Amino acid sequence: MAQSTLLGYPRLGPHRELKFATERYWRQEGSLSDLLKTGLQMREYNRDTQKQAGIDMFPCNDFSFYDQMLDMSALLGVVPSRYGWAGNKVDLDTYFAMARGAQHSGADVPACEMTKWFDTNYHYIVPEFETGQVFKCCSNKPVDAFQEMRATGAAARPVLVGPMTYLLLGKSRDGSSPLGYLDALLPAYVEVLKKLEEAGAAWVQLDEPCLVTDLDIHQKEAYEKAYAALRAGSKLKFFVTTPFGRLDDNLALAASLPIDALHIDLVAGEGQMNDVLAAVPESMILALGVVDGRNIWRNNMEKSLQKLEYAAKQLGNHRVWVTTSCSLLHVPYDLDAEIKLGAQLKSWMAFAKQKAEEVAALACALNEGRQKIYGALVCSTQATEGRKLSKLIHEPSVGERLREQPLSAAGRATPFAERRKLQVATYKLPLFPTTTIGSFPQTEEVRKNRASWRAQKMTDAAYDAFVRDQIAACVKWQDEIGLDVLVHGEFERNDMVEFFGEKLHGFAFTENGWVQSYGTRGVKPPIIYGDVLRPEPMTVDLARYAQSLSAKPVKGMLTGPVTILQWSFVRDDQPRSVTAHQIALSLQDEVLDLESAGISIIQIDEPAFREGLPLRRKEHQAYFDWAIQAFRMASTGVKDETQIHTHMCYSDFNNIITAIKDLDADVISIETSRSQMELLDAFVTFKYPNEIGPGVYDIHSPRVPPEDEILSLIEKACQRLEPWQIWINPDCGLKTRDWPEVKASLSCMVSAARHLRERYAAKGA
Ligand code: GLN
Ligand code: ZN
Repeated sequence: MAQSTLLGYPRLGPHRELKFATERYWRQEGSLSDLLKTGLQMREYNRDTQKQAGIDMFPCNDFSFYDQMLDMSALLGVVPSRYGWAGNKVDLDTYFAMARGAQHSGADVPACEMTKWFDTNYHYIVPEFETGQVFKCCSNKPVDAFQEMRATGAAARPVLVGPMTYLLLGKSRDGSSPLGYLDALLPAYVEVLKKLEEAGAAWVQLDEPCLVTDLDIHQKEAYEKAYAALRAGSKLKFFVTTPFGRLDDNLALAASLPIDALHIDLVAGEGQMNDVLAAVPESMILALGVVDGRNIWRNNMEKSLQKLEYAAKQLGNHRVWVTTSCSLLHVPYDLDAEIKLGAQLKSWMAFAKQKAEEVAALACALNEGRQKIYGALVCSTQATEGRKLSKLIHEPSVGERLREQPLSAAGRATPFAERRKLQVATYKLPLFPTTTIGSFPQTEEVRKNRASWRAQKMTDAAYDAFVRDQIAACVKWQDEIGLDVLVHGEFERNDMVEFFGEKLHGFAFTENGWVQSYGTRGVKPPIIYGDVLRPEPMTVDLARYAQSLSAKPVKGMLTGPVTILQWSFVRDDQPRSVTAHQIALSLQDEVLDLESAGISIIQIDEPAFREGLPLRRKEHQAYFDWAIQAFRMASTGVKDETQIHTHMCYSDFNNIITAIKDLDADVISIETSRSQMELLDAFVTFKYPNEIGPGVYDIHSPRVPPEDEILSLIEKACQRLEPWQIWINPDCGLKTRDWPEVKASLSCMVSAARHLRERYAAKGA
């Protein structure tokens, strides 16, 4: 018999119950027992949903109060000394302090670092290893989770992050390779496995997504060593998962590990099945991840069944598990909770609950024949066929226009050095021009008015008048304090992607489609289902209005094509590159309309540019090719005098710096203050030729930076770049800040710029 299973389930709660309970606990409005109870209810809900869907084997310990990597650190006693942990069981308060920092009764401990989980938009807490790090089992969470589920009679399989992925994603305080801790780590894993075995577990799931990344020879050897040690120390059956890509050159390694079942991702890693079938030893079970765990489309069951049936023929049904490409953590809970999505759109989609049903149905078809799931199969085929032809999706003019665009030619007509001369003459900006990244505080008042307008309690005209008042006050204030290039403040926008998605054809929005981003934070990504079209200008009216209020340039403000793509659920019926280029066409129209309306400086934000980078190095260039192309399609049709800005948040710029140059924006602003300008080094080493605004103060904190602190940061930048290249701006947008901080901070920034100009003038520069 083939078995059905999931790798993990969402955990914030179908109505984000866990988020609210956790935040109440943090605000000391809810008790610990309330929080624990909510956690229990979420686990019960997940288990019942999977049971009802007909799933055979259930993951447990996939639940987390914050993050599964942080859970591992708590389990293994990897708690940095600054948290003053006594060294026994890691309690929930220490756990949350690691996640978010702690500020109470004189103590002020920063949080552990957080970063993106592979190429998803989920963020994990980075394990932090201290010199001489000791690892030992310090929590009973996996055992408790197992016992809790087994008590209900369900076939429970505890989930852990595998030892190699855990280590490789961690960082040593002293900069040494985390692999150096392998020998110390393994006995602690064995101890955890022993406990699970004693509790009666048969299987353990070890998540090893690092197996789909580039591994060097030392890392591969460490994999062999690690699994040999676990095998020697435990009688549990090992199920290793490899989500987010193909095994490729790690296939032989994965197939040679002393494990009992191997999962492969047949969505992100499409096309690898035959190689895997040929490589796995006779004893090994193969878990085929045919249902997409990362996107919201309904499964093409015919296609999945063909794969499954083929694999079952080779392996025998008893060696096949049917599952998802990755944990369902990355999709929303339940499509049935969506009331406003149109029936047709809904018929094409599946959220976690529906995906569980798909997995169960596929396993059923494999075991009992296709006729057993006839209805589901027909619906799935109808959805697939329907999407191929639907007028809702296909807008022939978009494809035609894309084919006509001379893609290779897209690029500014004149080189930067020449454009710059014209721009200098046009704008007559001072040395070290000052600007901001775009948004100004989204006050209670702004949010309230938007909510009333959305609820149709406020007329369009009244809301528009309100937004214009905000813009007018904001522009006037920027003018008064002496900023050089102004912004309108983005008061009409809630979210930088949603705002544009709502104005473009081809986008849909959910009411309840939350996905965990980190901790208690969820995002509700737009769904790009069809060809993207811009029915009418999106930002021109307000930009024109804002520009009319000042003699100084006011920047037009757009979100770039790559960022819109990255932060949405995207179509799976065409390559991502095509969707990005369609978005770029709409932005191209917007850019040209802004230019005609007299907006001469236009910023196209690409904070997600670095995020789009594929996991494998060999795929980087292909990504850069289409991503750069998309940005250029949007931005390069303008006159030489028109100045294009872009903005990227905190990034490791080293492996994207060539691509950044190829974007050929006249000015890029980046986040550099927290790294004390270290992030600039990529630009310096590379000799970045265009202009740059390295952020001079951290906008994530309410703290007002003293002027001399800003000055010393700019001077650092001056040592690295030519003064004419440098712009002065904060790290990012100011929407999360309050007005008093913003006013004080920007005044300091402007004054620092003035002092610096005086110094340079005195030097006779
Ligand atoms: N223009 C946007 C803002 O200021 C940029 C935000 C971002 O980089 N994430 O809010
Ligand atoms: Zn930013």
